[in-house]
Amino acid sequence: MNKLTKPQQKQFRPILLAYLKQLGAKLEHLEEAALLIDDDAGPDDGDEFGSEGQSRELQLGLIENENQIVEECYRALERIRDSVFGNCTACLDRIPERRLEVRPYSEFCVGCKEKIEKGELDPN
Ligand SMILES: [Zn+2]
Repeated sequence: MNKLTKPQQKQFRPILLAYLKQLGAKLEHLEEAALLIDDDAGPDDGDEFGSEGQSRELQLGLIENENQIVEECYRALERIRDSVFGNCTACLDRIPERRLEVRPYSEFCVGCKEKIEKGELDPN
């Protein structure tokens, strides 16, 4: 089967760990910022695209996003442990290395990712 060699897979471990460290710091910052937002001045004034751009909702959305990437990083580390890193978890095709360089936590190839986003493929 076309897959990355074990040493090739292991190369991504420190990259993912660095990512996690970065994300942890970012999340801490985001959570702090979310706590500082005054709830009374929330987004309920109907001006969602106001100049503030700092609504609690927006902030929580960012946190959710980052949390999801953290989870994806952990799953990627598990895939390295299981020696299946670098292949799409849906169709088992190789994920192009260029994609892995940009998003080392990529779980799916571009084709499957698109299908999942369109709801044509169930990632589970
Ligand atoms: Zn795929």
